[in-house]
Amino acid sequence: METGGQKQSLLERLMPRYAGNRPLLVYVLCVVASGAGLLAWRFPEGALLSWSFLLWLGFCLAAEFLWLETVSGEGTESMATTFNLGVICLLEPDLAVWVVAGSVLLATRFIQKRDWVRTLFGLGQMTVTALICSLVFHSLHPAAASLASFGSVITALAITVTGLVYFVVNTFLVAGAVALEKRQAFFTVWRTNWGYRNAVVTSLALFALSPILIISFLSTNFFGVVLFFLPLLIVKNQNREYIHLQRMTDQLVSTERMAAQGEMAASVAHEINNYLGVLGGRAQLIQMKAQRLGDDSMRADAEIIRQQVQRMSTLAKGLYQFSHTEMRVQRFDLAKLILEAIDFVTPQNIFDRVEIVPELDPEVGEVQADPGQLQQVLLNLMKNAAEAMNEADPPCATKRITLRMHKAAHGMVRVEATDSGPGMARAVAQKVFEPHFTTKKTGHGFGLATCFRILQLHGGRLWVESEPGQGATFIMEFPRRMRGLAGADGATGRGDERDAGGESRGAA
Ligand code: ADP
Repeated sequence: METGGQKQSLLERLMPRYAGNRPLLVYVLCVVASGAGLLAWRFPEGALLSWSFLLWLGFCLAAEFLWLETVSGEGTESMATTFNLGVICLLEPDLAVWVVAGSVLLATRFIQKRDWVRTLFGLGQMTVTALICSLVFHSLHPAAASLASFGSVITALAITVTGLVYFVVNTFLVAGAVALEKRQAFFTVWRTNWGYRNAVVTSLALFALSPILIISFLSTNFFGVVLFFLPLLIVKNQNREYIHLQRMTDQLVSTERMAAQGEMAASVAHEINNYLGVLGGRAQLIQMKAQRLGDDSMRADAEIIRQQVQRMSTLAKGLYQFSHTEMRVQRFDLAKLILEAIDFVTPQNIFDRVEIVPELDPEVGEVQADPGQLQQVLLNLMKNAAEAMNEADPPCATKRITLRMHKAAHGMVRVEATDSGPGMARAVAQKVFEPHFTTKKTGHGFGLATCFRILQLHGGRLWVESEPGQGATFIMEFPRRMRGLAGADGATGRGDERDAGGESRGAA
């Protein structure tokens, strides 16, 4: 029994995602073992140090950097698909399999920084795909691909069929793992992730580029591959610009919605607070009356009402604060403020075993802003980071928050709070600054909305960059000197009435 228990904990420690899911574990091990077996079987004696192998490996690896975000923004398509299919059609099966496997191994582990289990799964998945495709292509097209053969139907047919097999085997293998992990039906998973129009069109486009890569190589050797590569860089940049624009549009819509919701929340909170004042006063009167009458049960009930009213009042005040912010602008040392905020949170329980690393550029020096409000933002970001890391499933190996402060362009200063927590999905990242959005059982969802508003009032912005499983970075950027308030040390003002300059729309 004890041995079993130890095995379990070792498994949990090494592969926490798979420990409670035996079918997934077996599936992953089968794919990894198949990959390893096939690689051993198709070992290309002596060819691993050839120029051809190394150059193709380099190109396939470089293609891994050319990932495109899908139109839906929910996933990425790597242009390595084009190169992998090209390699499969151009090289002998043994060499092709090793080129594809080698590039996937290096890319998954060192570019995408996935854990070893995912890396080995990717290796197995791509080895199986590459070998099946290679065998299909060479059985349909026994002669080596040449420029002359490109006019023939056989070559076109062989490349098309190989592309289809590539798409099916590759996506089926991943869909199997996802279905077992999420305990969903295989075809539902496949259809939602790969079987929809945009995904099929993107994959088709990537496969359709392969014959051009093959022709480029056959006509001018590796120089042709370089020429083929360059336009892809342009495509990648265009894609990045497009996705950036799309995100800005999403953020703008989200910010507008947030502003409207915030104004409404403030007025509702104000009204509620007035009623709560009356309720709280009456509850205290009942308590006093019950004490006079010696009715302990009534006194206890009145106390419960008073406490609940108090809690509701705190929430209502938070709501009100969110869109009604008083500014006290003064000159102060930003680095000192950050260090004070760290000193303040460190003794709190939720920061146990959380390492907070300040990286503060002394060049920033003094800034002119509201120190109280900026400290509120810092405290909130650190609290959220600590909570995310403490509640992460699987648990975080290290719990670290890095607070980086440095100068930014156009007289701005940046403070970045990066944590080593679970990060968040894009759908969550888009909403975190909306009032009342929370994923926590006891959260009220006004923390980040208030931070966002504070940065807006400073003529700056706050946004988040995060990938699921790879932590989150909240970035605040604001002017070192607030315009319109020059020399106004200690000045107060209604933030929402003044013009602080800079951008007023932040990024979610
Ligand atoms: P609350 O803390 O009450 O949930 P916030 O506005 O402070 O409200 O946060 C909103 C949501 O943003 C959180 O519920 C959480 O899902 C997400 N979030 C905030 N910070 C992080 C972080 N560092 N890592 C992951 N998720 C975060």
